[in-house]
Amino acid sequence: MKSITRQKSPEDIQQGLSGLDRVFIVGCGTCTTMTHTGGIDEVVAMKERLQEQGKRVTGFTVIPTACDDMTELAMKENGPAISSADCILSMSCALGVHRMNLYIGKPIIPAVDTLFIGIEDSPGYFREACAQCGQCLLGETAGICPITACHKGLVNGPCGGTNNGRCEVDKEKDCAWTLIYNRLKEQDRLDLMRKYQPPRNHHVTLAPRSLRIQ
Ligand code: SF4
Ligand code: SF4
Repeated sequence: MKSITRQKSPEDIQQGLSGLDRVFIVGCGTCTTMTHTGGIDEVVAMKERLQEQGKRVTGFTVIPTACDDMTELAMKENGPAISSADCILSMSCALGVHRMNLYIGKPIIPAVDTLFIGIEDSPGYFREACAQCGQCLLGETAGICPITACHKGLVNGPCGGTNNGRCEVDKEKDCAWTLIYNRLKEQDRLDLMRKYQPPRNHHVTLAPRSLRIQ
């Protein structure tokens, strides 16, 4: 399960860096490496592109996992190059930006957009797997998430548009509730199809979310 990201356009990155001439670039060895948005190859390509645009790249690094506490060590190890930069260009997901913000006072400019939490179904195809709804139903939906797999996010599906197992919104896509039905049938748990799910309680996902473990 990974943060799925897409690189911002060169124009957007250029705009983000306007007025910031000296740049230190940070990639991530985990999620953005997997999506080819911020691994070592993309970081080096970004360095060359910025230099062509007249930026001074003071250094770069690819942190093994930019969202965890290895980031503090990486910031220390690259202290002089970061100190001489006007900003950090982050090629990690937004969680990496948050982590770096804990250790660095300089502007941190994201070069990627964080899209969703997903899994790689087949090489190069990423699918959203969980919207972190706070009231997980996977135990009653045969492990298929109705929030992310159904185009309407129905928790009491299917809608009336299912057509030969395909979704009415996207005919290329299997209807999530047909998949749920078929898997529940295999598990001999079809009675769960009749279970009414009460309206979602959106209070459990009020922003900003937090959790304290006692
Ligand atoms: S129901 Fe779906 S969105 Fe909600 S927690 Fe479970 S997997 Fe995530
Ligand atoms: S056809 Fe199936 S997946 Fe598509 S919106 Fe209706 S219930 Fe959801």
